[in-house]
Amino acid sequence: MSEIPLTELLTQEKFSDDDLARLLRLTDPSDCEKLWREAYDRCTKVHGNNIYFRGLIEVSNVCTYDCRYCGIRKGNRAAFRYTLTKEEILEAVRYALEAGYGSVALQSGERDDPKFVDFIEDVLAAAHRLSVQMGIAEGCGMTLSFGEQTLETYRRWARAAGNPNALRYLLRIETSNRALFDHLHESTGKSKTWPARLQALSDLRTAGYQVGTGVMIGIPGQTIEDLVRDIRMFESLDVDMLGMGPYLVSHGGSMVEEGMMDKGPLLTLTRNMLAATRLALPTVNMAAATALETLHSGGRSLAILSGCNVMMPNVTPQRTRASYQLYDNKQGTEATPDSNVALEGELLRTTGRTIGFNRFGSALHFRKRTDRPED
Ligand code: SAH
Repeated sequence: MSEIPLTELLTQEKFSDDDLARLLRLTDPSDCEKLWREAYDRCTKVHGNNIYFRGLIEVSNVCTYDCRYCGIRKGNRAAFRYTLTKEEILEAVRYALEAGYGSVALQSGERDDPKFVDFIEDVLAAAHRLSVQMGIAEGCGMTLSFGEQTLETYRRWARAAGNPNALRYLLRIETSNRALFDHLHESTGKSKTWPARLQALSDLRTAGYQVGTGVMIGIPGQTIEDLVRDIRMFESLDVDMLGMGPYLVSHGGSMVEEGMMDKGPLLTLTRNMLAATRLALPTVNMAAATALETLHSGGRSLAILSGCNVMMPNVTPQRTRASYQLYDNKQGTEATPDSNVALEGELLRTTGRTIGFNRFGSALHFRKRTDRPED
């Protein structure tokens, strides 16, 4: 049986595993353009023309885990470790809100000791108060990305963050291939397990967060079938948000000998994955990853052009930016806060999108599931 033409496939509402695999495998530039364009157009149809910003604050690179792909893993003795002060974090929050982003995203290496949990709780409460003082009556949107914690911790942080309508958490599953997951997280110390990761995603839902997950694309040993299963997993987890980017080798990690994909094919595969995911999950919010910008200058614009509708400009203070080195040559470590203004201009010019300033931009998927209005 011969395949239906691509243009016809792209009009479908439902996609089989074979359809998704076919989309992911596209390499012909004009075929790829058709796929990316369709994802962009469907994104417009479902979410409108706005993209939403979350000011990203990299709170700390201290980590208790040893994820082999990651440059800030515990075992990397060469990393200079830092934790921002409460004042530094609040300054970054102020910067993001003054810029009109409406939401901040706080991320760090993983710790679950009481001192850290208390510190984050205190910071979240202070950030909420600051945002109210700055005129956001409900409090700003907050996206947390602090890894696996107990349900109790997720609940405490949710209360402290103050605005249950714009409360979000990002916890990537990294890959749906369990054997590959275990390989990525082999360690002599504390290591991540697949069941614990799934439990955390379920606890986040219980605690009331808009839940986001995602995978790395182009991990050594990952197949197209794995990526198809990743998309199926996003569907079965019923997630509200996704963040996905290319796997980039890190010399602070322990996978250097396994190499990474060539840049050109990796860029295409990443864009195909973003676009195929957008077609399969039209109502989720999908963020353009910094890793894509590192792979290719202007990569985040290309992510918007492949179906993403969220951007996370870095607002971390200059003092520590270069130390949050998840992978080699991470983009934006020398950038000044004002370079975010340049990013805004570039996005407007290259993507045809508008920016949803001073809006929360919660995922449509979440609003439908919880019967909330547009924000
Ligand atoms: N520790 C937290 C968040 C920080 S890491 C957590 O695990 O949730 C944030 C994301 O960076 C990870 O989920 C991973 O997908 C990505 N990342 C880490 N190392 C990477 C690499 N070498 N290439 C691409 N992405 C990487």
